[in-house]
Amino acid sequence: MAKKDRIREALNLLWRFGPTTRNFLATRLSLNPAIISNLVRLLQDRNLIVKIGNATSTGGRKAELIDVNPSLRTLIGVEFSTRGLFAATARLRGDLQNKQVVPFMRDESQDELIDKISSLVEGQIAWLDKEGINRENALIGIALSGMVDQTNGVSLSFPRLENWSNVSLKQIIEDRCKIPVTLGSHMHGATVVEHLFGNARGARDALFVQAGPGIGLGMVLNGRVYRGYRGLGGEFGHTQVLDNGPLCYCGSRGCLESLASDEAVLARAHKGVKNAINTDLHKLRREDGSLTTGHIFKAASDGDRFALNIVEEVGYYLGVGIANLINLMAPEVIVLGGTMLSDNELLLEVVTRTIKSKVLRRLQDEVEIKTSAFGKEAGLRGAVTLAGLEFFGPQPGEKKPDDLTDESVDIDGTQSPWNGIAKDFPEMEETG
Ligand SMILES: [Zn+2]
Repeated sequence: MAKKDRIREALNLLWRFGPTTRNFLATRLSLNPAIISNLVRLLQDRNLIVKIGNATSTGGRKAELIDVNPSLRTLIGVEFSTRGLFAATARLRGDLQNKQVVPFMRDESQDELIDKISSLVEGQIAWLDKEGINRENALIGIALSGMVDQTNGVSLSFPRLENWSNVSLKQIIEDRCKIPVTLGSHMHGATVVEHLFGNARGARDALFVQAGPGIGLGMVLNGRVYRGYRGLGGEFGHTQVLDNGPLCYCGSRGCLESLASDEAVLARAHKGVKNAINTDLHKLRREDGSLTTGHIFKAASDGDRFALNIVEEVGYYLGVGIANLINLMAPEVIVLGGTMLSDNELLLEVVTRTIKSKVLRRLQDEVEIKTSAFGKEAGLRGAVTLAGLEFFGPQPGEKKPDDLTDESVDIDGTQSPWNGIAKDFPEMEETG
């Protein structure tokens, strides 16, 4: 194997599993201790990795822990989702710093929204300068709701934003900020980070369902995050669950999203309050008469019958949809997240109960139901991780660098994950 490929693979393993020991690298790379020692020395000489202390051990010589040098790359993440517009900066695996949020309205023009995104990025770059972090080493990841052409860096559509279509956001932000940008769908980023570092870590087959303003699905099949042709799969929210149900913004009726998104919850609650149904929601409303999903879940946990019915109904629809997915795909783990399913025991209980009652008995004990490791931060952590992946290389189960040939079709934008390193360390081109 070429030396540069070995270096890349070692860095990828350290990023995914670090801090870790030389022994771990030796096992994963099937190399003998002498070669590993040489490789580790080489990585240290080039400042690619750092020693960070010793592993705890019970007697004997303690194993030294090594990790990727955290100043190798700085990751700027932007989440532009139905939940809001957020940005933060992270080192390596995504502990978020300098979190920012700006509101946006659905009737804003495309140019106004692009300006908001680039000023968020500029805010993060200004913070790097202030902290003395080299902006030359920064990478940007942007995770968006809706459909994204990751290969070409184009946001094709955004739910309920009529003024937004076919935005070449990668190019626009790169031109303005002079930093490489990776564009991906919000759901894809969230799934990648859950699979790499979260509660689907190491799973061969996993599903990740997010419920909030929209309802999305991420899939890990055969150890690899799967996105469908051109990355357009996973539109779980637009599967039909009720004939002649409410009209969905996609144009169909009875989509899961029209019945179980937070918007659907609010629509039902407002209707009930307007019809003077006996509920505490009258008292909980804000001054302008509006409600949040937080009000509804609060009233429900306080025993409000009307609010409880809403939670039961929403949880039922979500549970039925998810049970269908489980029967279809037989994942080993299903992760539940999104704003509505994060820190929401009440709804999770209904969803889990419904799943258990609808999943084939044979599968009931096979699938583990977990909540997202990153909760409401999953989108932003996903954005940061998409940028990291661009440098540290393929997601587990993806093609190794050796398998990447010029003919490989890059439908899902994974063609050149190693370019970053090759560009920065041209001397690695030698073989050894
Ligand atoms: Zn729909």
